[in-house]
Amino acid sequence: RLKALKMQKHQEVIKMIDRDCIFCKIVKKELPSTLVFENERIMVFKDIHPAAPVHLLIIPKKHIPTLSHCSEDDAALLGEMMALIPKLAREEGIAVSGTETGTPQGGFRVVVNTGPDGKQDVYHMHIHLMGGPRPWKTPN
Ligand code: 5GP
Ligand code: ZN
Repeated sequence: RLKALKMQKHQEVIKMIDRDCIFCKIVKKELPSTLVFENERIMVFKDIHPAAPVHLLIIPKKHIPTLSHCSEDDAALLGEMMALIPKLAREEGIAVSGTETGTPQGGFRVVVNTGPDGKQDVYHMHIHLMGGPRPWKTPN
């Protein structure tokens, strides 16, 4: 019975997080964001505290707390999010060029902070797309 009670409590906590989730509010347009791309499943907007000259967040519209909560059922959604990156990079002027000449230029980092040890702050899964000329605000 104690376990059942604990599970109920856990579910309540998850629901509470969902209802108060800032990224869900951005999806519902209850909070403003600088929108870069949107379709039925995905939103892309500018990070409010950019760590690089270009810093976008790619999020699923449905509330998924962390990458750790994903499974093979989410492969299409996660694939679609990843596959958007080259187009976003070209539009933002951070795509890689020059590989054929041996002098690559441009580029970006793709990061998914996951859970407390992964230093995730917002518990609505998101992909960071960071790029642009160095130096960045991030230490590496
Ligand atoms: P995390 O640390 O969870 O991987 O990243 C959360 C990111 O969301 C941070 O880079 C932070 O700057 C960004 N962020 C937090 N709140 C907001 C917000 O209200 N609007 C936008 N656009 N970005 C936010
Ligand atoms: Zn959410």
